[in-house]
Amino acid sequence: MAAIGANSQLNPLENAERQFEEAASRLKLDPGVKETLKRPRRATIQSLPVMMDDGSIRVFTGYRVQHSIARGPAKGGIRFHQDVTLEEVEALASWMTWKCAVADIPFGGGKGGIKVDPRQLSLSELERLTRRYAADLSDLFGPESDVPAPDVNTGEREMAWFVDTYSMHERRTELAVVTGKPLEVGGSAGRREATGRGVMISVAEVCRRLGMDLKGARVAVQGFGNVGGVSADLLASECGAKIVAISDVTGAYADPNGIDVKAALQHASSRKGLTGFAGAKPMSGSILEVDCDILVPAALENQITSDNAAQVKARVIAEGANGPTTPDADKILEAKGIYVIPDILANSGGVTVSYFEWVQNRMGFYWPEREVNGRLHEKMTKAVSDVWDMAQSEKVSLRVAAYMVAINRVLRVHQLRGMYA
Ligand code: NAD
Repeated sequence: MAAIGANSQLNPLENAERQFEEAASRLKLDPGVKETLKRPRRATIQSLPVMMDDGSIRVFTGYRVQHSIARGPAKGGIRFHQDVTLEEVEALASWMTWKCAVADIPFGGGKGGIKVDPRQLSLSELERLTRRYAADLSDLFGPESDVPAPDVNTGEREMAWFVDTYSMHERRTELAVVTGKPLEVGGSAGRREATGRGVMISVAEVCRRLGMDLKGARVAVQGFGNVGGVSADLLASECGAKIVAISDVTGAYADPNGIDVKAALQHASSRKGLTGFAGAKPMSGSILEVDCDILVPAALENQITSDNAAQVKARVIAEGANGPTTPDADKILEAKGIYVIPDILANSGGVTVSYFEWVQNRMGFYWPEREVNGRLHEKMTKAVSDVWDMAQSEKVSLRVAAYMVAINRVLRVHQLRGMYA
């Protein structure tokens, strides 16, 4: 994984801003309006002292950025990772604004993070850290104001701790304060698979328009967590695609005849990673350069850069991860005729079902999984269609088109609400 250093190509905030600027310039936005839409509404940095198991105190740094609340409460996950920075969280928060607008759900954009390698903490230390973060920002969070969710290295367990901490402060149980919860704590059927299912739907919709048959199509998936694992599984089991390569932080594995994804998922869950997976050959080269038809980067940012974009062989890239392709790489991929389904479209299934979860919590009435999946399918196909039509009519890439659709929607709300000053 590339590190963010002197190479500004790898700064996610600069990349997010460049993507926004390209679409904004096509829309000929007024400079003041453009600045309003671009900048985060609010950013906080927290010092989080936590009592470690040995009695010592360690102070962690946490962040929460609300990029926009124009269309509804700020919405976005919380990431636990040793490389989290404020700039990264700002970039991720802005992507959430555009993603919620592309998906056309009534949320703004937010994101949070704690600079921590969670593998270095015990379970009880992790719980204390999560609760400290939730308590410290409990005045910011709320179903009407800011609704977190899982992201890299957080999941249902952390969301349940979050609900409990927030509810204790509120003196009542408030389930709608976060999404991505366990089913028993107000989670939605289908939420765990939603991002991967959305990736599958977006791939199917784009391939159909390109006249590409998904049955037997060769797919490589980078990252084998929530997004990558489910995307691989559903592309194989529901579309008949052949998964020829998979990878996670512990290693990459390939088999041109197709990998048994369910066996790989079982291995990864029991061994905490793909390491030692015997169902395919360990790979030496980069999974991003594997000979395949569809590539799904589903790990972290900055994976496809100007250094490796020319070596990508896929015809379609579906961005399961947020920000996996740099703007410089985008230009190279476009020149090669590769279709990139941008993150704010491809992985919007997660936040769409998060929205359904929030709705169900507020109604106190829960839908069966087929209803959730049916509604997700409807939302995703509409989003792909809106973006595809914009790309055709404006003769731009799917990424620029997705931003144009999103910016137009947020802009319209700003225009209707007017400026309070
Ligand atoms: P996760 O923690 O469940 O999985 C991340 C995976 O990436 C793990 O398998 C990890 O081993 C792997 N990984 C890390 N470094 C790697 C490397 N160098 N090479 C290959 N694999 C590597 O996280 P997730 O929830 O699946 O999120 C993955 C991406 O998808 C992130 O960019 C996240 O922001 C984005 N995303 C997640 C959701 C969601 O609902 N979980 C929704 C939208 C977008």
